Amino acid sequence: MATQRTTSTALFDRAQLSIPGGVNSPVRAFKSVGGIPVFMKKAKGAYMYDADGNSYIDYINSWGPMILGHAFEPVVKAIQEKAPDSMSFGAPTELEIEMAELIKSMAPNVDLVRMVSSGTEACMSALRLARGYTGRNKFIKFEGCYHGHADAFLVKAGSGVATFNIQTIPGITAGVSMDTLTAPYNNIDAVNQLVAANKGEIAAIIIEPVAGNMGCIPPAPGYLEGLRAICDAEGIVLIFDEVMTGFRLAAGGAQERLGVNADLVTYGKVIGGGMPVGAFGGKKEIMQHIAPLGNVYQAGTLSGNPIAMIAGYTMLKTLKDNPSIYKELEDKTATLHKGLDEVLKNVNSPYTINRLGSMISVHFSEKPVTNFTDAAEANNALFNQFFHHMLNEGIYLPPSAYETWFISTAISASDIDRTIEVAGKFFKN
Ligand SMILES: *Cc1c(COP(=O)(O)O)cnc(C)c1O
Repeated sequence: MATQRTTSTALFDRAQLSIPGGVNSPVRAFKSVGGIPVFMKKAKGAYMYDADGNSYIDYINSWGPMILGHAFEPVVKAIQEKAPDSMSFGAPTELEIEMAELIKSMAPNVDLVRMVSSGTEACMSALRLARGYTGRNKFIKFEGCYHGHADAFLVKAGSGVATFNIQTIPGITAGVSMDTLTAPYNNIDAVNQLVAANKGEIAAIIIEPVAGNMGCIPPAPGYLEGLRAICDAEGIVLIFDEVMTGFRLAAGGAQERLGVNADLVTYGKVIGGGMPVGAFGGKKEIMQHIAPLGNVYQAGTLSGNPIAMIAGYTMLKTLKDNPSIYKELEDKTATLHKGLDEVLKNVNSPYTINRLGSMISVHFSEKPVTNFTDAAEANNALFNQFFHHMLNEGIYLPPSAYETWFISTAISASDIDRTIEVAGKFFKN
């Protein structure tokens, strides 16, 4: 029996009268999976509660930030204690130094770090810096990777752009897109060809070191090392977009987990503990070109905001002080992986499960999914049915096959058992 969501339906009708499409970020609208988006009211630990009072085991976790579950007590308490001292100064604070020092102590290759208010801002600023530093205009990104919604990145982008199958985006000039070169993920030859054809013109290569915006797609062995070698040989800035992987795959993110060094790194999601925070950082030689040290301009009225900083600081400190969290996340995700394999293997529909650390996704694909084309050729209509089956049984997956699932420590062994059991029922139908 389908869950009753009459309040969500009414709220969605009302929302559309004053918010474009009823949502403040497109994937939330459920357009690709169909149906009415679920309006949430509160969440605690592994569970979200909607406006009708239904509960869900949450596998989105706000698209990553809630790595320790919702309303994580120490973060909530830290915000409550900080708020009475004012919500913003627009002047420097000691807390910002503590945050920067903490990030440096966790993330490899970060000598200097600048705080911003979103992952989009972090990536946009890192690209501008790479261009300012090298004096070159072009950059390479990968098909299906998402680096936020800044103009230059909205070429063959993943996440919502892929979900809605948007090819060209009105409002982005050809002049901007011309400097964005794209290559398929996991194909080093394609990068070599682009670099050869644009000799001395490429400022940066930006990549999700583990892709999460076309479902989860890990890098092939040697691939990131190959990009590192190309960048070293050609004076290109290697940017790891760790907005998703940062502080999730390890305390030091994908750089630590996969043992490859970037020149610049961008962060978002987990770094804010649920508040709007992003950051970009890297080698001093490059970072010192940012204003006021250098001439590459970048600024933000609310950057380093005290409430955002205390939330992020508390989250990161917890992760740093409890390294066993990463093993726990990995074990839980591996259990989910194994369980899904057991219930899916007897079924007619072919599938592929990709996983790295606490990022996992299911593609209903006959072949391995190693790049965007593979992800797009999967049976995404079947994923949409799977999504609704899970949702109706109280399991909240990302509403698109082009998104990774995010595991939190709050998800218990019995939550995972239930998830596997419910997934098994879909395939018995
Ligand atoms: C979410 C995401 C972004 C954009 O971050 P926002 O905070 O939504 O602007 C950039 N890059 C990656 C890899 C992401 O997953």
